[in-house]
Amino acid sequence: MTRTGTRRVRVGGLVLGGGEPVRVQSMLKTPAHDLAAIQDQTARLRAAGCEIVRLAVPDEAAARLLPEVVAEAGVPIVADIHFNHRLALASIEAGVAKVRINPGNLGGEKRLAQVAEAAGNSGTAIRVGVNAGSLEKDLLARYGATPAAMVESAVRWTRFLDRIGFDQLVLSVKASGVPETIEAYLRLAREVDCPLHLGITEAGTTVTGTIRSAVGIGSILASGVGDTIRVSLAGDPMDEVRVGYEILKALHLRERGPTIIACPSCGRCDIDLVGLATEVERRLSDLGTPLRIAVMGCEVNGPGEAREADIGIAGGKETGLIFRNGKVVAKVKEKELMNALLAELGLPNADSEPGPAGGAQDPA
Ligand code: SF4
Repeated sequence: MTRTGTRRVRVGGLVLGGGEPVRVQSMLKTPAHDLAAIQDQTARLRAAGCEIVRLAVPDEAAARLLPEVVAEAGVPIVADIHFNHRLALASIEAGVAKVRINPGNLGGEKRLAQVAEAAGNSGTAIRVGVNAGSLEKDLLARYGATPAAMVESAVRWTRFLDRIGFDQLVLSVKASGVPETIEAYLRLAREVDCPLHLGITEAGTTVTGTIRSAVGIGSILASGVGDTIRVSLAGDPMDEVRVGYEILKALHLRERGPTIIACPSCGRCDIDLVGLATEVERRLSDLGTPLRIAVMGCEVNGPGEAREADIGIAGGKETGLIFRNGKVVAKVKEKELMNALLAELGLPNADSEPGPAGGAQDPA
């Protein structure tokens, strides 16, 4: 499913493209000048599995914090730059792994060439982020704010950077409309060999943004296109990472943490299936180890699905069966199901453990 033949672009200790795993990234939501908050949120994102962290660099004061941010981050840091190419130069000098620029507002070829020269000298990657809201005037006049215009803009900048000898380039073409974004990425993938950064811009709040991102990013990935993803949510950035992995897991592109398979429950169910599934998901949310856990309400699909999982629960009449690797290992009363499942995972039981904030340990 992965697009082949993309060039490899180094971003800190990672490589994007060239058949490497699709990477999950997010963006800080902290004030741009609050170093403690920046470092804290970066550490939390890293712990949540975020592989690349981007932050806005709106002015020189923000750029001055970057050396400390980079030194402490433990993940590649990307500086998000608009309007002022000097901030891109300052970020590169500060040691960021990548700068994200929008040539539509950077001031033309000369300034992009300066940024590319500095980036090339220091091994920094560049993402050219084309946005439907800030296209070059000639493209807008010819095509309007359409996928064709975004693709032509991205191709134009790629060719320019190729001409001046800079190839560590990642591209994105984001529109706020999902079909337009899908069309733009699929067209762009036919034109260039750069790794592509996928995202639906201004996707929305956690529920609507998750759906729009899953449909948009998921459709592009399902076509074999995309090397790194950022889910944009007007919500907790940890949710951006979580949703990102869920999209990748749904397409079998990455594995991380538990995959909870839960039936929706219905009139055949005699246990509190919804409460149990919600609690299982909550209590295991800190696990990094890939695990398939089935929580099923009854005997119809329950034992079958539970057998397919690493660990499974299938409900009965106020009781439940615990399965492990296809074998029934226990039959317990409903109120003991949660603890029995945790015991199977080698985790403290529900009564003695404070939940995800207390840091469930990875059993592997
Ligand atoms: S597994 Fe059983 S309880 Fe769950 S939805 Fe299917 S029939 Fe209903």
